[in-house]
Amino acid sequence: MMIADNLQKIRKRITDTARNCGRDPATVKLVAVSKHHPSASIVEAIAAGQHLFGENYIQEAADKRQAIGDNAAFHFIGHLQSNKAKLAAELFTMIETIDRYKLAKALDSHLEKLDKTLDILIQVNIGRDPKKSGILAEEAKDLLKQIASLSRLRPKGLMTMPPFTVDHTESRNYFKSLRLLAFELGEQGLFYDNESIELSMGMSHDFAVAIEEGATLIRIGTAIFGERPLNLSLS
Ligand SMILES: *Cc1c(COP(=O)(O)O)cnc(C)c1O
Repeated sequence: MMIADNLQKIRKRITDTARNCGRDPATVKLVAVSKHHPSASIVEAIAAGQHLFGENYIQEAADKRQAIGDNAAFHFIGHLQSNKAKLAAELFTMIETIDRYKLAKALDSHLEKLDKTLDILIQVNIGRDPKKSGILAEEAKDLLKQIASLSRLRPKGLMTMPPFTVDHTESRNYFKSLRLLAFELGEQGLFYDNESIELSMGMSHDFAVAIEEGATLIRIGTAIFGERPLNLSLS
């Protein structure tokens, strides 16, 4: 029961870290990143009380959703193409990686037909890393203003994936920048709920630092499920 053990350890670390910095542990939600892991691993995690998962690929997520049923909620955390917006609108409870208006517009019109609303986050390339997706910090305001006209989308906050670094001081600075940016945008009333803004940041190696800097969603894969298999075998 490796997955159950890992989840237990991570939950304890989330609770301890949150308490130590004066936060309510319930304000930190764990997104178990199951990309490239089989449905059986998700089922194992569900049995251990985990009901929120993150997936990066639409078709993979659709297949798993079929296998698992409605026992879990999924966030989309990968790069989304506009032509996959319809399926994405059906499958996920949150899309964390909105980085352009065209995509937001495509999602909104599919949601209209489905008569649904959907939570979204804006993905910000906080480290200005040419290899990473997301908009630049200074572009977030305009994108949020455009998205405000799309009635089916609820922009809840920001998401980032900073450049990989083993140096936690550097990660901390990126996380802090995202928090300050979200605060600034919230003061201008640009989110769906400006009293409670979501910050999705922190992965297996740096989630404790992210919690200290205000993360409300942490996305953890390897520390729960182990190394990702290179060969995708979904079963
Ligand atoms: C894969 C992935 C994660 C999880 O990374 P780990 O290092 O395995 O915890 C988190 N966020 C995003 C966007 C990912 O693609």
